[in-house]
Amino acid sequence: MSSARSRLFRPGLRSRLTFWTTAVLTSCLIAGFAWARHCLSTILEERNDVFLMSECLELRDFVRENRFGGLDALEAGLRREAKSHRLFGLILIARRPGAVLVAPHAMGARRLADQLSRLDLGPSPRTIHSEGGRAYRVERILLEPDGEAPFPVELCLPLSENQATLSQFDGRVIAGGVAFVIASVLGGLWLSRQALRPVARSIAAARRLDPADLSARLALTGGGDELDQLAATVNDLLDRLAAFHTQLKNFTADASHELRSPLAAMRAAIEVALQQPRDAREYQQILGSLSEQCDRLTELVNGLLFLARADAGQIELKGTRVDVSALVGDMIDLYLPLAEERGISLKWDQPPPALVTGDPSRLGQLVTNLLDNAIKFTEPGGEVRVLVLQVGHEVHFKVADTGSGIPIDHLPHIFDRFHQANAARSSGGSGLGLSICRWIVEAHGGVIQASNNPGLGSTLTVVLPALGTNSGRRKPVRETFDRASATVDV
Ligand code: ADP
Repeated sequence: MSSARSRLFRPGLRSRLTFWTTAVLTSCLIAGFAWARHCLSTILEERNDVFLMSECLELRDFVRENRFGGLDALEAGLRREAKSHRLFGLILIARRPGAVLVAPHAMGARRLADQLSRLDLGPSPRTIHSEGGRAYRVERILLEPDGEAPFPVELCLPLSENQATLSQFDGRVIAGGVAFVIASVLGGLWLSRQALRPVARSIAAARRLDPADLSARLALTGGGDELDQLAATVNDLLDRLAAFHTQLKNFTADASHELRSPLAAMRAAIEVALQQPRDAREYQQILGSLSEQCDRLTELVNGLLFLARADAGQIELKGTRVDVSALVGDMIDLYLPLAEERGISLKWDQPPPALVTGDPSRLGQLVTNLLDNAIKFTEPGGEVRVLVLQVGHEVHFKVADTGSGIPIDHLPHIFDRFHQANAARSSGGSGLGLSICRWIVEAHGGVIQASNNPGLGSTLTVVLPALGTNSGRRKPVRETFDRASATVDV
């Protein structure tokens, strides 16, 4: 309930996009406005200073040129000048120590003159504020009339016009800014809707996906943008999920089929036995066939269990030092009687030690599976040749036989689970042996290959990293994603 409520009040992606677009644009607008206002006020100040300075220089020239005889004549001349300066909005104030010489009669100007006379001379030009709160820009010049002590004259320019210009500027920019913010909210809403439209389509398509039918895919616009890349990534994931799903379905179907065959055979044998009373020899035969089917079932269940545990990452491999030559030699000793019994010559020259890091029992299982197959698929009178050799940083282990060979169209699938060449179904195998071999080899950081011999038979080759080689043992990948290589030598 509380999570539903919090979801209700959590702003959606669209609102957040709109908010941030507006926030960023408004911040830029405020910064731009502040900068423009600063520039405008600086320009106005500079123009005022230039104007005041030129007026001061004109005044000094005026006094120099007219050579006023005596202070009274100078004062009268300055009063005339003050009047003409007022026309430009300027207030002229001349003062001598202790007395204001010239100052306009207007009330404001008079008060300003009194205020200035009380203040120290201070820097020039400068901005002062009158007691009435008005701002003035003040420029000073020192007049040196003939025969009189020099005295300062100050020209004051009221800044009210500047302030009016700036207030006008503020008013217009604020009105424009409000319109801009409203436009950016609307623009942000439109933009976010446009940007999120493909996402909405992808969400709708993703909702339609059915775990039982993983054939649906997200539509790509073909623009190659980030949303397209996201859709392609999801589609890629769906491809792999679909492949895994198919593999799982096939595996379950194959496993049920393989389990059913020995069970059906056992049931048939039992039914035959029960049809009529039989003698001891017949019962012995039937029990023998039942035992064979039991062995087949056990082999199958063990294989399934191994692969299920391997898929679940539950098989722990030891990492001890293993001499592949010695290991293969021991297995050959075990298989020699069987090969002899079947009229097959098992050839092997004990090579020098070939060391790898690995799990001896799993590597033994690998060798057993390959020898088992080679003997199983070779006719009496044939030959199985085993080879172990170290090539650089690799240990190669080959089992070559002169048997039936692997049909070319089966060669690429030979390491798939339950894959058996048709003729081999009668051999009684489970079709899991080579899948298990591949898992063991890959878990040891190696590779396994199957190839047909130019003349007859086939060769299974395992390449493992030699002891001390940094092979980077890796977890084997599932069949669907990476098939062990199978080649044809013709
Ligand atoms: P199986 O239990 O059937 O032997 P495997 O996974 O070990 O299962 O082998 C899969 C199939 O590969 C076999 O059924 C057979 O068709 C083929 N195969 C494997 N090894 C050989 C070989 N040495 N010669 C011919 N065919 C082979």
